[in-house]
Amino acid sequence: MSSPVREIELVWHDLVPRLLTVARTGRITPRMARITLTGDDLDTFAYAAPEDHVKVFFPAPGAELPVMPTLGEEGFEPPGPGDPQPIFRDYTVRYVRRDQREIDIDFALHGHGPGASWASAAQPGQRLGVLGPRGSYLKPLTFDWYLVAGDETALPALGAWLEQLPADVPVHAFAEVAGPAEEQPLVISPATTLTWLHRGAGQSLGTALADFTPPAGDGYIWVAGEATALKPIRRHLRTLGVPRDFVEVDGYWKRGITNLDHHDADE
Ligand SMILES: Cc1cc2nc3c(=O)[nH]c(=O)nc-3n(C[C@H](O)[C@H](O)[C@H](O)COP(=O)(O)OP(=O)(O)OC[C@H]3O[C@@H](n4cnc5c(N)ncnc54)[C@H](O)[C@@H]3O)c2cc1C
Repeated sequence: MSSPVREIELVWHDLVPRLLTVARTGRITPRMARITLTGDDLDTFAYAAPEDHVKVFFPAPGAELPVMPTLGEEGFEPPGPGDPQPIFRDYTVRYVRRDQREIDIDFALHGHGPGASWASAAQPGQRLGVLGPRGSYLKPLTFDWYLVAGDETALPALGAWLEQLPADVPVHAFAEVAGPAEEQPLVISPATTLTWLHRGAGQSLGTALADFTPPAGDGYIWVAGEATALKPIRRHLRTLGVPRDFVEVDGYWKRGITNLDHHDADE
């Protein structure tokens, strides 16, 4: 029997900047905040895939409003040297409720930087800018198995992957967090195996994925997390016989680097 044709489709969205208001804040775990944002124009918010993400624009310390992005023909244009400088970071869209004009974003509270600092003290009524999503990568849902893995910054996308994959397809999921208190409730199907890895106990994505044996059939691999730690993981996963197009290893942040403003995907 021949394999089905599988292609990744990129769907572009109109790039819309929105000034949103914090409706609610909460903690999923001690070091992961869920911030619910509301705005009248969220009824047209584009969302189509687990990794859909936005640029979030934060107010400078002491300011009420963020400097919002300037858009040009190519999309978001970085400001000139004399212009007000927006402060922005990439975040995954965890949930969208268009009818209620709400979106949720989950922030890892790692203790540094404008994103984590803002989220740790966020209060209802505060304002935040959101740009995007610019596009959605639609991955085929017809693979025989999936491997999805990541650290705290990848948990919003990983959680969405687990919710959006077909319930009967085997999914091997690995989530690396600081310790047991950082395990968060994720919806998993009976065909999913979810393994929590605790850094505090010496466990890591690197060692867990080095032992991963691909099941029979065609698979898709998605891994995201700290860029440097992902390098050996990327090298290893590319030796497993899965076509390169179907092995995605994405650096979501880089230790010691402020605002990694690109996906560190191909180093
Ligand atoms: C496509 C995409 C989607 C993302 N989705 C999410 C998401 O949904 N939730 C989320 O929390 N993050 C997410 N991230 C990661 C987030 O953009 C980065 O962690 C970002 O650096 C956070 O900004 P900051 O202002 O908190 O820290 P920065 O000012 O960027 O960095 C300050 C310092 O903190 C370090 N640092 C940054 N992130 C972490 C971390 N997680 N743990 C420990 N140290 C860190 C940096 O290396 C630097 O030394 C995503 C990134 C990408 C590319």
